Amino acid sequence: MTAAPANNPHILLIDDNPADIDVLLDPLTEAGFEISVAEDGEDGLEQAQYDLPDLILLDVVLPRIDGFETCRRLKAVECTQEIPVIFMTSLTNLADKVHGFAVGGVDYIPKPIQPAEVLARVRTQLALRDLQRQLAAQNAALQQEVAERQRAEAALQRANADLEQHIAARTADLNTANASLRAEIAERQRAEEELWRANHELAHQAAELQAANSELAQYAYVVSHDLQGPLRAIHNYADLLAADLAATISGEIALLLAGLVRAVGEAQALVEDLLEFSRLGHQRAAPESLDLGTFLRALVASLGLPPDVEVGWGQDWPTIESDPILLRQIFQNLILNAVKFNRASRKRIALGWREVAPGLVEISVRDNGIGIERRYQTQIFRVFQRLHTHQEYEGTGIGLAIVQKAVTSLGGAVRVESAPGAGSTFFVTLPRRSDARE
Ligand code: ADP
Repeated sequence: MTAAPANNPHILLIDDNPADIDVLLDPLTEAGFEISVAEDGEDGLEQAQYDLPDLILLDVVLPRIDGFETCRRLKAVECTQEIPVIFMTSLTNLADKVHGFAVGGVDYIPKPIQPAEVLARVRTQLALRDLQRQLAAQNAALQQEVAERQRAEAALQRANADLEQHIAARTADLNTANASLRAEIAERQRAEEELWRANHELAHQAAELQAANSELAQYAYVVSHDLQGPLRAIHNYADLLAADLAATISGEIALLLAGLVRAVGEAQALVEDLLEFSRLGHQRAAPESLDLGTFLRALVASLGLPPDVEVGWGQDWPTIESDPILLRQIFQNLILNAVKFNRASRKRIALGWREVAPGLVEISVRDNGIGIERRYQTQIFRVFQRLHTHQEYEGTGIGLAIVQKAVTSLGGAVRVESAPGAGSTFFVTLPRRSDARE
């Protein structure tokens, strides 16, 4: 046995002939191989299993078990079956050669041994073995890769199946949502159609109502207008009777006549107010530019208010574009009411204004009169709504209805703030320009 560097290829030489061993030992060692020697088959098998060689040079003719049997046993054991075996023999008939290959030999070297030939064949077999190992390693790597790919593919298929399941579930959800949405849309369409029908019906009724209303207004106008003549005549006759019979009738009859004249006077006032109220529906507003302060001062002056009435004025009155006739109807009624429904010893009326929004002015008429209970503050703007008897306060119950109608036709609004005993303030909101409401 000869020492050789570790990692050198290790060759086990099984041969019982010292001459053959001698021939080979030096050239193989010099060629860089590590050599171990066994002198019979069984020793060779033992050594091969103990320290696995890279190649075995095996003599065929050996004591006890021959080379072929040794080879067969090497190939029967898992750890040694891959080691390439090269036979060395002087037997040269074909049957022996075939037998050698049949039991697992990879090559055949004839004796007498030529070291150069042995070296060449050994190198070839080792190179073949290395190639085989490489191929096996590549094969194993490939198989691992294939296995990994198969695993990845299986995972992908699973993910795909999950995804499909998820999509199917989501699609089912969406279909359900879609169906309920459609049902909801259909329901809304039905509701909208019903609403449209109801609206249509309402519009129809409103038109009918408006027609009936204007017919009634027309009727009120005609009746009021036609009643003016007879009422004037009754008034005149009653006056004449009272004057002619003044000397001859008793005091009781004179009182009755005076009552008649008063009643006819009230009827005339009612008819006049009604006529004015009816006319408001027929006239179109004719706006002009007015200095509100000047306009209201002229109006107050024309009313000839009693001397116990004190009128206070706000500052810097604005100029507005409005209809003076309608404005007169509004503020005349409000100012006269402020005087009429007032029992203070010094009746005070305050007229003021402020801009509540760009282009919108609010004019206030405040008094220190009897005030109005909160629950009546809306209904007093309706026609014929009075809170007092004729004996308490004169009137027809039409004044504030005229105010409401006139303010509306100017594109404004009216409201009152009041409390019994604490006076009242009427607020009239009007656009500065007459076209602001269009
Ligand atoms: P009339 O003055 O002819 O009674 P109006 O329509 O002008 O009718 O007013 C309706 C009612 O509103 C009045 O009868 C009165 O009770 C109440 N009212 C109107 N203005 C005032 C006011 N300034 N102070 C207190 N009450 C008022």
